[in-house]
Amino acid sequence: MKTDSDFVVPGGQVQTSAPEVMGRIERRWEGLRERVEAKLQTLKGVDRRQESRLLDQAAKAGTVAKRVTWLRKAADSVTGSAAPLAACRKGCSHCCHIAVMISRAEALVIAKETGAPMNPLAGKYTMANVDEDSESYKAATQEAFGKPCTFLKDDVCDIYSSRPLQCRLLLNMDEDALLCQLVEGSTINVPYLNTQEHHVDSVVILGAHQDYDDIRNWFPMTEQQ
Ligand code: SF4
Repeated sequence: MKTDSDFVVPGGQVQTSAPEVMGRIERRWEGLRERVEAKLQTLKGVDRRQESRLLDQAAKAGTVAKRVTWLRKAADSVTGSAAPLAACRKGCSHCCHIAVMISRAEALVIAKETGAPMNPLAGKYTMANVDEDSESYKAATQEAFGKPCTFLKDDVCDIYSSRPLQCRLLLNMDEDALLCQLVEGSTINVPYLNTQEHHVDSVVILGAHQDYDDIRNWFPMTEQQ
């Protein structure tokens, strides 16, 4: 069932401050909510029943690694129907240049599946101290700003089938990537598909004891990269 909150508009940031780009961005915002809602109407809303069943499976899974597997399926089910209508395309990598916070459980699964060397000392944040308004959290996201993810190769994700939940759940429902552009010092709003509830459910299912960090800290760049 479609709801008014099928998309959400959190802040994003961009890199070029050229006036013509900023002008295009401002013009894009005119009527954007209505256009995105009309687009989502063609889906008759995002069907979340399958997602709900898969989240139940994740919660019942016997190991944390299996929970990650079920959570991936649940994430893919909620974005699957909307993905063909999104701006996101292979070769577009704006969201691979911002912080990607992942849990230790996800990092362990990625390390096992890909063979990438993992830094076990990462994990600065727990659910108790992840406060998006805190100075340390803002500093962490600023540190990642504009830096490519460790797994980005030639603007393509090198671990696509193992990519984190955050990457699976981020869909820009606009026509193109204009609003994803990173402009230092400016805040741009991107009409992402609303997956906030799903994020909260995932955190609860993985357990409050999990520690979190940016993917670049779990998997630092090697000299060969
Ligand atoms: S894991 Fe893949 S999709 Fe996610 S930020 Fe890194 S390169 Fe991009």
